[in-house]
Amino acid sequence: MREIDEQAPRQTTQECPRCGSHLALVRFTFRDRKSGRAIDTDSRESLFWSVLALVISTLLLNVLLPSLNRDEFGTSQFAGPLPVWTPFVLAFVVLVVLEARRVFRLESAIRVQTFRCRSCRYRWDLGQR
Ligand SMILES: [Zn+2]
Repeated sequence: MREIDEQAPRQTTQECPRCGSHLALVRFTFRDRKSGRAIDTDSRESLFWSVLALVISTLLLNVLLPSLNRDEFGTSQFAGPLPVWTPFVLAFVVLVVLEARRVFRLESAIRVQTFRCRSCRYRWDLGQR
């Protein structure tokens, strides 16, 4: 795993190509090797989808499904624990799958140094090998 604290912007001595200032901030970003798109380095997006899966499946199983199937629901032996625990299992599976995919993509990603000049706010990248 890579160090997480590398994500915080840091002071650098890199010279700005536009105004020549040496007051630039640097941060590391990760780009997909094929598409060149930035990859998240934290779990926020995975957590978001996990919570969304939890909320939606809870609504479906506990509100929508009972209202569609009023007569039989509640007589089934699964009626108690299933609608309560299924959303948590689903949310956990969503979280694990998304996190695994993100870590896998990060492992093969290109690490890019992104600079931002503090004088003129110019941004530029410096790819690392
Ligand atoms: Zn500048």
